[in-house]
Amino acid sequence: MKRGDEYVESLRTLRMKVYAFGERITNLVDDPLFRPHVNAARMTYDLAYDPVGEDLVTATSHLTKKKINRFTHIHHSAGDLVRKVKMLRMIARRTGTCFQRCVGFDGLNALYSVTYEMDQELGTEYHQRFVNYLLYVQENDLMLAGSMTDPKGDRSLKPHQQADPDLYVHVVRQNEKGIWLRGAKAHQTGIVNSHEMLVMPTTAMGEEDKDYAVACAIPVDAPGITHIFGRQTNDERKRGEIDQGNALFGIVGGEALTVLEDVFVPWERVFMCGEYRFAGLLVERFASYHRQNYGGCKGGVSDIIIGATTTMAEYNGVEKASHIRDKIAEMIHLTESLYAGSIACSAEGYATSSGAYFVDPLLANVTKQNVTRFIYEICRLSHDVAGGLIATLPSEQDLRHPEVGPYVDKYFRGAAGVSSEDRIRIARLIENMTGGTALAESMHGAGSPQAQRVMILRQANLAHKKTWARKLAGIKS
Ligand code: SF4
Ligand code: FE
Repeated sequence: MKRGDEYVESLRTLRMKVYAFGERITNLVDDPLFRPHVNAARMTYDLAYDPVGEDLVTATSHLTKKKINRFTHIHHSAGDLVRKVKMLRMIARRTGTCFQRCVGFDGLNALYSVTYEMDQELGTEYHQRFVNYLLYVQENDLMLAGSMTDPKGDRSLKPHQQADPDLYVHVVRQNEKGIWLRGAKAHQTGIVNSHEMLVMPTTAMGEEDKDYAVACAIPVDAPGITHIFGRQTNDERKRGEIDQGNALFGIVGGEALTVLEDVFVPWERVFMCGEYRFAGLLVERFASYHRQNYGGCKGGVSDIIIGATTTMAEYNGVEKASHIRDKIAEMIHLTESLYAGSIACSAEGYATSSGAYFVDPLLANVTKQNVTRFIYEICRLSHDVAGGLIATLPSEQDLRHPEVGPYVDKYFRGAAGVSSEDRIRIARLIENMTGGTALAESMHGAGSPQAQRVMILRQANLAHKKTWARKLAGIKS
């Protein structure tokens, strides 16, 4: 297993092509635009060696029986699935933000069972190939980006119907050595500080979309790959400290648009190529695993929001007011409801034919659907309790300024014994964690709400519900 510092050093050896603000980034690891995301992902390595997290963050490989980082593990019991959720909440309580490594983790688990089932039905040899790759990932303790989402162009059209065929990643050429891919993957969480990307199709496919039904693993610095880093609400504050709110770990995952321009992938790294009937199954497996997570990581993030909001109430001298206590209770209720959903879909997990465990997909989708609503409500309550200063505070430079600094200090005081700086710090943390970028991640991360509703309807067995109701109502037919 890699230690945190070894993970950070391993990133320095990558020769990635990354652009941000119109410039090529040469030293990503030490750049303040990227460093918080590196620090957050590093936590998944550090905690494997920390007695606080070791139990949750490590696991035993079912392949080698060696101790490995859980982020490279294939779940082999419902207990494994529950430990995953507990691990995510524990890490999120330390970072207060996304630590990115779950997407590739979920991709590994989805591909493990789907390649097995594909081989069973089609006589292909993807599973052994995938297991060989998994061994390599476990041995080297790699961080993988889960590269599912394509840009998608006109959403009413299928991949092969798009005016520009590259709006979904597709195979443009193949020979006995491997395949060549073209297209792009969007919203790539943590990709610029990952080692590899796991490419998967973004939607169910028909026969005409055969070239788009492709899954494979590619190093993030392979020739032909360009990453264009996304903006965040706070990124112009990255050279200061207090105004960032969470200077050490940042906001959400640090997403990028990753362009693939005729990227070569050798056959030993290809896990689906043209088996379009399995594209939908892979998407469903991956999406359900990723939706399982959100009551864990967002549960941990909400713990910090609740802690910050309660602290702010104390700093404002209103912590005993009954309406404040009621709002904090509501925030806790919502947070624990999210967590309960993640635990439930894990506890109800079951073995697939490969032996790997899968979550209850209905409960996992309900959990993520709740996240798209409850996080907004948690943040609304936090804003309500914290007060308007989270939107109107002067900058850190003004607080430090010889002339206006004393005014900021004098007029932003709250309850006796609390420094203005501490009050400003907690307000900035709340602003960071409850603002636009963080909220949109809760809405669209792991799939937009409508994607969950489609799955909810599909999984809910309405026919049974109708039968039970008609029986009770005395309807014979
Ligand atoms: Fe993991 Fe949560 Fe980030 Fe997704 S949003 S990668 S589940 S921490
Ligand atoms: Fe996410």
